[in-house]
Amino acid sequence: MPLLPRRFERLKAVLDRRMGDLTVLLENVEKPHNLSAILRSCDAVGVLEAHAVSLANRLPTFNDTALGSQKWVALQRHADSPTMIEALQQRGFRVYGTHLGVEAVDYRRCDFTGPTAFLLGAEKWGLSAAAAAAVDQAIFIPMRGMVQSLNVSVAAATLLFEALRQREAAGLVPERGEGLAADQYQRLLFEWAYPQVADWCRGEGRPYPTLGEQGEILEDLPRNVKLRC
Ligand code: SAM
Repeated sequence: MPLLPRRFERLKAVLDRRMGDLTVLLENVEKPHNLSAILRSCDAVGVLEAHAVSLANRLPTFNDTALGSQKWVALQRHADSPTMIEALQQRGFRVYGTHLGVEAVDYRRCDFTGPTAFLLGAEKWGLSAAAAAAVDQAIFIPMRGMVQSLNVSVAAATLLFEALRQREAAGLVPERGEGLAADQYQRLLFEWAYPQVADWCRGEGRPYPTLGEQGEILEDLPRNVKLRC
């Protein structure tokens, strides 16, 4: 079925608001419903991509809780936590580790308007010592009840929406694609609009075709590829 102009407008409207400088790093968060809920919150806030390391290299899995958000928020996988944290730091992100250590500060005292990555730990164990040692700042969400911690997906949502709130207050939330590099925006738009054609192009090692105003492909593709549009 051809891409409907309304669908194309919707894809652009979402990409227009994506933020390449806000993300989550997940250390051994294993339960599918938690991973799913975290990616759904990322999508809701406008996070471009998330990052994860998994126990014994297990593949992250999702369930219905995600409502398909894993299609819209790419999960980049890393070999181990120090490597993941360093990769983000080298890209200019300030990495906030979530734990209750003595050096941790109330998250409401932090400025999340710059490039920000929230590191969240495993459901049972929290952050590893190696990961906690590598972060730029430890933060916590104050707890007033009998139970000492939040569910990891609730903690992720709390922090992401605080970052969004701060950015909105500072007038820093992208509305017209300024949260992404121009080439990244065009690449993602094509992949979101035509995932199967994008797969074919990658397999062939050729650039994605140009799109017209209404999302139509401005190039004559082989018939069997056209059928995938
Ligand atoms: N027993 C574990 C511990 O001591 O860290 C509890 C892990 S908690 C269920 C899973 C993850 O959720 C934590 O690693 C952290 O990333 C996040 N989290 C839970 N409660 C939090 C809070 N109050 N502040 C910040 N992060 C929290």
